[in-house]
Amino acid sequence: MTAGGAPFGVNPAERPRVLLVDDDEVNLMLVSAALTQHGFDITEARDGEAALRMLRDWTPDLIVLDARMPGLDGFETCRELRRMYGYENVPVLMLTGLDDETSINRAYQAGATDFFVKSNQWTLLAGRLRYMLRASRTNIELARSRSKLARAQDLAKMGSFDWWHEPGRSLYRGLALSEQALHVLLGKVDIDDRPSLTFLLRSIPTVDRHNFIRTVRNVVQHEDRLLMDVPMNLPGKFIILHVQAEPEFGDQGHCIGYSGIVQDVTERRRARDEIQRLAETDSLTELPNRAQLRKRTEQALFQAQRMGHQVALLMIDLDRFKNINDTLGHSAGDELLREVARRLKSCVRHSAKIIESEKESIGPRAHRALEGVGRLGGDEFVALLPEVSDEAEAESVGRRILDALREPVDVSGQECFATASVGIALYPRDGMDAQDLMRNADEAMYRAKEEGRNRLVVYSPQGASRGREQLELETALHKALERDELVLYYQPQVEASSGRMVGVEALMRWRRGEQLVPPNEFIPLAEVTGLIVPMSEWVLREAARQAAVWREEFGFDGTVAVNMPYRMFVQKDMVELVEHAVRDHRLPHRMIQLEITEESLVKDLQSIQPTLRRLNELGVQISVDDFGTGYSSLSRLTDLPISEVKIDRSFVKNMAVTHKGTAVARTIIALAQVLELRVIAEGVETEDQKAALVAEGCDLMQGFLYSRPVPGAEIGPWNARHEARLAAEATAPRVAPPAGARPRREPGA
Ligand code: C2E
Ligand code: MG
Ligand code: MG
Repeated sequence: MTAGGAPFGVNPAERPRVLLVDDDEVNLMLVSAALTQHGFDITEARDGEAALRMLRDWTPDLIVLDARMPGLDGFETCRELRRMYGYENVPVLMLTGLDDETSINRAYQAGATDFFVKSNQWTLLAGRLRYMLRASRTNIELARSRSKLARAQDLAKMGSFDWWHEPGRSLYRGLALSEQALHVLLGKVDIDDRPSLTFLLRSIPTVDRHNFIRTVRNVVQHEDRLLMDVPMNLPGKFIILHVQAEPEFGDQGHCIGYSGIVQDVTERRRARDEIQRLAETDSLTELPNRAQLRKRTEQALFQAQRMGHQVALLMIDLDRFKNINDTLGHSAGDELLREVARRLKSCVRHSAKIIESEKESIGPRAHRALEGVGRLGGDEFVALLPEVSDEAEAESVGRRILDALREPVDVSGQECFATASVGIALYPRDGMDAQDLMRNADEAMYRAKEEGRNRLVVYSPQGASRGREQLELETALHKALERDELVLYYQPQVEASSGRMVGVEALMRWRRGEQLVPPNEFIPLAEVTGLIVPMSEWVLREAARQAAVWREEFGFDGTVAVNMPYRMFVQKDMVELVEHAVRDHRLPHRMIQLEITEESLVKDLQSIQPTLRRLNELGVQISVDDFGTGYSSLSRLTDLPISEVKIDRSFVKNMAVTHKGTAVARTIIALAQVLELRVIAEGVETEDQKAALVAEGCDLMQGFLYSRPVPGAEIGPWNARHEARLAAEATAPRVAPPAGARPRREPGA
């Protein structure tokens, strides 16, 4: 420690304060006068005891002691003052009588800084004192910066080390750790119990140890600088040690060893890991996110390339997530996603470890740690299998995933089904890098969707070209709306008993250049992309406009049925849209009919029921399209504000052909009658079918037997021809109702 703080306060310009201790009055006076003259500020003491007393409350910059004094002599006094707090390093000059070796040795042993043989060479004495003072100040500064450094190192949990190659000795010798380094490693400083390099190496976990030794060997061989973080299991604690060292070169220019620092970076690493974890995990499911997945995939590919195995990437997309989210709300959606994440994890050897660098996946099996599932966003997940022997292995994981998701999920007390479509791509066959692999797995997943969902598809290049077409189609479809390329065709609906047209169904077509694209080629895509919403709004307006034109032209008074996808009822205010359409064209509400497929109707009765009810109250009729294909329990229909069921074409086709075909139609018709719903058959192509339907009690029909869908302008002429034929066929003349008037089930009845 420093001397009582005094020298720190010493201004070099000030006169240095000297305590001069001598029992000889004359000597005291002479020395004092001489030193005062040389710029020193002298305080005198006549014996050792008096000196020690004075030193208790005052600290000089220098002490000059006469060696021989009665009572406490100079040696004793020096020994005593060295024991006093703050006097460990104050420069002490011993004045000896003779230049004898014994006194000099005694002086040093007593703790004196230097000695001076009594003489009257005052200039020499003053010079000696000044030199001592300077040396003492330098020492104090040095000690101060050492202690500062030590404190800084302590705070930074850092210490230094030297590691010398001793010729002829093993590399494991020659390590010298500083006190602070010992502190970092062992939490204590026990100079006699320094850990050996072997001990330190043993505390590194096996895999990391091999890695560390390999790196050190490499670095030493190339005389490089060493920079590395190593995990260590030290007595009572686990730390991450940052090691940084530079080579030291001897006189001959060859590397003689390393010197550097070690630092405990455990906390910093933890903080960094946490930040990284947050940046690379999906907060909802705590699965790796897109960035982490990409990194993992790249590392898996790197390994696979070195070791010559295959990698599989499974793209997993939930089939009806949007529905659940739209109808049950976002928090239910979140709950579902979390459950899906849990199930997906159970299908693979999911590793939650965040992998940071290529180095971490070194070692023959280390890449296995890359296996896992992640979430790309929304309802899209990915499973990465870093090593598969063949396609079948990936497929079996895919099947496990489908099975795991097939079980219903309980979301806020409601049973939901979250089936998925899975696309699989394999490295190297289906892509050489992460991007290609992801794209192709995605491609395959879309094919799984197209092929009816809840299935898995392995990527194939043939599918890919279809994918490109899809993309083109999607772009073109976007433009179709703006460019007015959509058109409506209309198909008459006829009452069999009277033969009259009672309404029409509006059916969309896309005039794409020369081509007239049928709806089944673009509506599914429009549904996926969401374009169906603006398209359906257009259909409603256009059908209303056309109905008004016919009303004007030939007194049309039937219904125009438009097909409305389920999502229109959830995303849009259907009541408002219909109101607009009828108001703009001054149509009665009853002329607008909305067709909603049975499949989408039963998806979620609860949330769309209020809208249906209001529409119904306005007089807008609801028809359940493709009835019989949606597997709705018939009883659920009883409460619904619907007016009509439309027997699906597939049943009509088999009427009068198979017994079963007739049976289904018969059941539907009977049901409709019980529920007092109107029933219409679609896809009626033959007279036999018509007769069979009539026999079962179904009087309304639509199909090629009467007319194919035709452009709006042709409906008037078709109706005129049709009426004329009816008139000609009629045996007895009868009073015709207004064209297209439809027998109706009163809304709300
Ligand atoms: P859908 O609503 O069940 O329409 C009836 C389909 O049956 C129409 O096919 C029609 O041309 C066809 N069809 C009518 N009579 C016969 C027949 O006797 N035999 C056969 N084999 N087919 C007949 P299209 O026009 O190709 O429409 C297919 C589907 O596309 C529609 O089925 C409907 O689900 C959808 N769609 C059509 N237009 C629209 C629309 O404007 N909006 C929406 N969201 N979907 C539409
Ligand atoms: Mg329809
Ligand atoms: Mg239909």
